[in-house]
Amino acid sequence: MLLMTSCGGTKEVVMVAPPIEEEMLDTLVVTAPPITKEEQEDPIAQVLPPYNPSATRYMDLLHTTLDLRFDWNNQWVIGTANIEMTPVFYPQSSVELDAKGFDINRISKGAKELKYAYDGIKLMIFLDRTYTRGEKVNLIIDYIAKPNEGPEGGSAAITSDKGLFFINPLGEDPNKPMQIWTQGETENNSRWYPTFDKPNERMSQQISMTVDDKYSTLSNGELISSIRNADGTRTDTWKQDKPHAPYLTMVAVGEYAVVKEEVEGLEYLYYVEEPYRPYAKTIFNHTPEMIDFFSKKLAYEYPWDKYAQVIARDYVSGAMENTGAVVFGEFVQKTGRELIDNDNDYIVAHELFHHWFGDLVTCESWANLTLQEGFANYSEYLWFEYKYGRDRADKHRMSEMQGYLMSAQNQGTHPLIWYDHPNKELMFDAHSYNKGGLVLHMLRNLVGDDAFWASLNKYLRDNEFTAVEVDELRMAFEDVTGMDLQWFFDQWYLSAGHPILEIKYEYIAEERKQLIHVDQVQNDEDHLPVYRLETEIALYDKKGNATFYPATMDTRNTTFEIENIDQPSVVVYDGHNDLLAVVNQARSTEENLALLKYSDNYIDKLKAANALKRSPLFETVLENMLNEPHEDFRELAVEYINLRKQPDQKERVESILDSDPHSSVRNAALNSLLKTDYASVKPKLVNILTGNDAYSLAATALKAMKRNNDPDLMNYVGDYEKVNYPAIVSIVADIYSSSGNGKYLGFFEDRLESVSLFAMFNFYNKYFDLLKLQSEERQIEAAMKLKEIALSGGNMFRKFVATSTINKLEDRYSSPGQEVMKIKLRKILDEIINQETDEQLQSRYRSF
Ligand SMILES: [Zn+2]
Repeated sequence: MLLMTSCGGTKEVVMVAPPIEEEMLDTLVVTAPPITKEEQEDPIAQVLPPYNPSATRYMDLLHTTLDLRFDWNNQWVIGTANIEMTPVFYPQSSVELDAKGFDINRISKGAKELKYAYDGIKLMIFLDRTYTRGEKVNLIIDYIAKPNEGPEGGSAAITSDKGLFFINPLGEDPNKPMQIWTQGETENNSRWYPTFDKPNERMSQQISMTVDDKYSTLSNGELISSIRNADGTRTDTWKQDKPHAPYLTMVAVGEYAVVKEEVEGLEYLYYVEEPYRPYAKTIFNHTPEMIDFFSKKLAYEYPWDKYAQVIARDYVSGAMENTGAVVFGEFVQKTGRELIDNDNDYIVAHELFHHWFGDLVTCESWANLTLQEGFANYSEYLWFEYKYGRDRADKHRMSEMQGYLMSAQNQGTHPLIWYDHPNKELMFDAHSYNKGGLVLHMLRNLVGDDAFWASLNKYLRDNEFTAVEVDELRMAFEDVTGMDLQWFFDQWYLSAGHPILEIKYEYIAEERKQLIHVDQVQNDEDHLPVYRLETEIALYDKKGNATFYPATMDTRNTTFEIENIDQPSVVVYDGHNDLLAVVNQARSTEENLALLKYSDNYIDKLKAANALKRSPLFETVLENMLNEPHEDFRELAVEYINLRKQPDQKERVESILDSDPHSSVRNAALNSLLKTDYASVKPKLVNILTGNDAYSLAATALKAMKRNNDPDLMNYVGDYEKVNYPAIVSIVADIYSSSGNGKYLGFFEDRLESVSLFAMFNFYNKYFDLLKLQSEERQIEAAMKLKEIALSGGNMFRKFVATSTINKLEDRYSSPGQEVMKIKLRKILDEIINQETDEQLQSRYRSF
């Protein structure tokens, strides 16, 4: 699964109270005496430390057959489940399934109806006799699932736990397609079919869906039949013979453009909304090439029947690796022009790699989640490195590292394998994802490339179609490499934190000796007091040649000595920037210049370039920078050129604008030109606005026209009204808002519900600025629209900003003579506040 972080920050986790499990012990009741005050103060613990075990398995689920119909009006799933299972080891006379919020109509085994007990969450079925190992049990359950009813929880990572979602179920919203899709992770598929909803379970499956003929359907596995029924419906049946965990089951129903291709015998399906049909393959760019790359590297062919990717409206997270049928949020759905600025490679690679790490081998408990998310995260690096080179890969890894360090600072650290996590949803954090990927990078460097891939192959072969824990990964690496890696796994997987290093470089001329002092200064509360670090020290000589020296340390303070050398121009501890560590070191301007000139490491160079970009010495490397293969250096160089001081460079910057292959560099060139005479740049702006260049440049052009009060502005802005690219939405909103003209309210109102969360707060502010200039009648009309959003089942931040916009309107009517308007708006506000059931929103509304 891939998460989305929003500008609103991390939400508090809303939890549904767990069911109280009643265990009846026939013969023995154990009660512990209360812990006394003395015992509490005793430094010896009186109870076991908290630990989240993997679920105990009584029955082994073998196969699930589902026959599903959907009641769009009530948002119900009408289902029949046929579940086959066998005792794991011990004889069983009952079965306890997860089935949340169902109406159970009938449970039978063959023709025999079975008794059951149901508390709305757990379904206890009493079998007709005791079954022993090797005997199969087939249960048929007729049920209605009501995922939209009952308690709704969620987390920052997965914002709702309803499991199955009806989008625009009554077709009332003309801007939204009607869709059904599911989100099983973590344990939410039991909101729509009965199962053992744990990651250490595994089953084959067959799902039939009867839907109106206008809809496409999607599920895991192969489409084995599609039959038109007499009543105008169609029944599609999808079958997956290879077993996977129940949370990976998915269904999707909707009006989609389905684009297909077959590459080397594997079928690829791309489900997008009709307007995006021409871009379907570019949205999910390189998918067949990625499958080929990962299959070859892992020496393990893609294990599933087909590869489908589908866009879901109002999705509750980033994307989800349902086996062979991946769901993506609509932010991935872009036109060709939108894709110029940002491709979707990382997220496509991430979900794809899960098909080995997550779907083929699955973590036995959520505490081991990094065995899925760490790998998926690192696959982004691996793909970038292969396809685009190490610079792009390192840039991506640097931002992953920053993400982890920020989270460690703000939320604290915990072991990567987090057995005592307070809540399974908290596993979806920058540890499981970012740190997991960074640790794999270090493991790869420790054992070497060939050993890394050979170990992963062994891990997959040994554990295919089973649940895993971290020791299985360690043992695969140990078996392949012949090394004892307990220290590495203890340090990085089972302990919290990371090293914080102070580095000092010292050259002793008389002894021709370079010293490198490395001090570990991390505190031992959030981190280990001492890390064993294996890396390399790079020495760049005066000609720019680099020599790399292996450097292993396992003490808190270590001095490395390199003898018999001339003074280097620059020294770099961790010369390839492979460690997960905070590295503090001071560098002189000369050293930064040397690094910028001689290093081929993206991270070293970027740090040096940023340190130098305000120094006149940057001039000496400007030519090098303008010819760098990575766009970030060309962008920095273009930004450095000051056309007011160096007007002779104008032609050159113009040619960069016309020809640089990367939009960020072209955009920097445009910004640079805009610091000169506006009239001379205007033709370029018109070219961009009437052409097909990246939206980032179009946004810059519109901003420039607005800033310069260009009378032609309104001739161009209309063409950009329907564009969803965030920077365009923001500048169009700005232009329309500043116009003061009420005819543009519609532009805002069409987007209030769909504008991305990143752009939302600014967008609503612009809307408010325009609205406050309109008639009282029009304001009331707007407040009614905002009320609908505030009371919808949508995103909490959106509901909040809608309500707060009404509140801001109300605040404007506080003078004598304005009471009527104030009362009207207050009434609308009160209606929202009284109907809101979410506690966090209620508490925020208290100040309104
Ligand atoms: Zn993931």
